[in-house]
Amino acid sequence: MKKKIAILGSTGSIGKSTLEVIKKDKKNFDIVLLTANSNYKKLIQQAKEFNARSVLINNQLFYKKVKNLLKKNRTKVYTGDISIKKIIRGKIDYTMAAIVGIAGLQPTVDAVQISKTVAIANKETIICGWEILSKYIKKHKTKILPIDSEHFSIMEITKDISDEEVEEIIITASGGPFLNIPKNKMNKVSPTQAINHPNWKMGKKISIDSANLMNKVFEVIEACKIFKFDKDKYRIMIHPQSYVHSIIRFKNGLIKMILFNTDMKIPISNTIYGKKNYVSNVKKIDSKILSKMNFQNVDTKNFPSIKLIPKCLKFGLSTPTIVNASNEVLVNLFLAKKIGFLDIVKTINKIFKDKDFKRYAKRNPSSLKEIKMTDNWARLKTISMCV
Ligand code: NAD
Ligand code: MG
Repeated sequence: MKKKIAILGSTGSIGKSTLEVIKKDKKNFDIVLLTANSNYKKLIQQAKEFNARSVLINNQLFYKKVKNLLKKNRTKVYTGDISIKKIIRGKIDYTMAAIVGIAGLQPTVDAVQISKTVAIANKETIICGWEILSKYIKKHKTKILPIDSEHFSIMEITKDISDEEVEEIIITASGGPFLNIPKNKMNKVSPTQAINHPNWKMGKKISIDSANLMNKVFEVIEACKIFKFDKDKYRIMIHPQSYVHSIIRFKNGLIKMILFNTDMKIPISNTIYGKKNYVSNVKKIDSKILSKMNFQNVDTKNFPSIKLIPKCLKFGLSTPTIVNASNEVLVNLFLAKKIGFLDIVKTINKIFKDKDFKRYAKRNPSSLKEIKMTDNWARLKTISMCV
């Protein structure tokens, strides 16, 4: 039986890596759905190459083009906010949730209801919508596998481990392109410099988040949502080589970590194949690197984002939604050269001081409508702070 696969955000960095994994073994997979926002050319090429059963192009402007160019194929074409529950019949074996930002929340909530396994790369969905997701995960007994390399590692190391056994969980950060530049030069960095990550090739948004370490703020929240370990046990450490993704210190004196190369195809293929994963198309780590690895504490003067972590976990369940929405707006403003690099974290700090902040932070994110309301408030507030 072929494995039925759906990829939400197939034209992005994670989406393309997922298809690369599958490419080697096409005969065992049936691609039931590929989705994208506006990169219709890539979506059409993928649909043809993998003989996809359906595609969803979110941006309606491109619907006719996609429909026309796929008319000779078996692929059905959808557009707009249509729920993937209306597109897919029967259960999907594996869905990769790889849309960027809060835009991935609704499709992931839908995917959890119609998939046996959902691999989640889309961390914004986890940090803003975990309370909703987990209701459906329980109800439909869906298996959830984190793709983010740090969380994939924590999952691998802590199978059958209880909170009592764990002393500390260290999430590593490469430090990004600005690890060694003086703070007074930070505000002058350009979007091109910020996107140019030394170890990974990723989408623009996560690359900016990696350059100021906001990505680590999100990753600690993400871990607190997925895993049952005490939230005070998490710590961030700089590890410029990015071979170790997380380190777990146990109370029995042991420290465990997993090393793997900076290639997302490794967590992706492991979640697709499980124990029968024999990685062949990724670069292997040379054992010589073991002598070159180093670890250091984060300099919070250069990376003030790290100080946001306790604040994000303190004020209420909707705080991550506020911080995420504000950050999405600010990253776009920075990419459009409307604000400086340091303004991103500065403005997020300002939002914590707003008179309405606590009221929104305390809201219970129990429905998508509720989350959207908080998200909207934070977006408008952020824009008003930047004009
Ligand atoms: P990307 O920008 O390369 O791709 C994003 C995908 O989402 C694209 O296919 C795009 O068409 C789709 N998309 C964007 N907006 C959409 C919308 N409104 N509706 C529907 N689809 C939309 O991003 P990426 O680097 O692949 O990252 C995807 C997610 O995975 C992010 O949440 C990121 O934090 C997470 N992640 C990525 C990496 C990585 O190595 N790239 C590692 C860990 C986690
Ligand atoms: Mg990560």
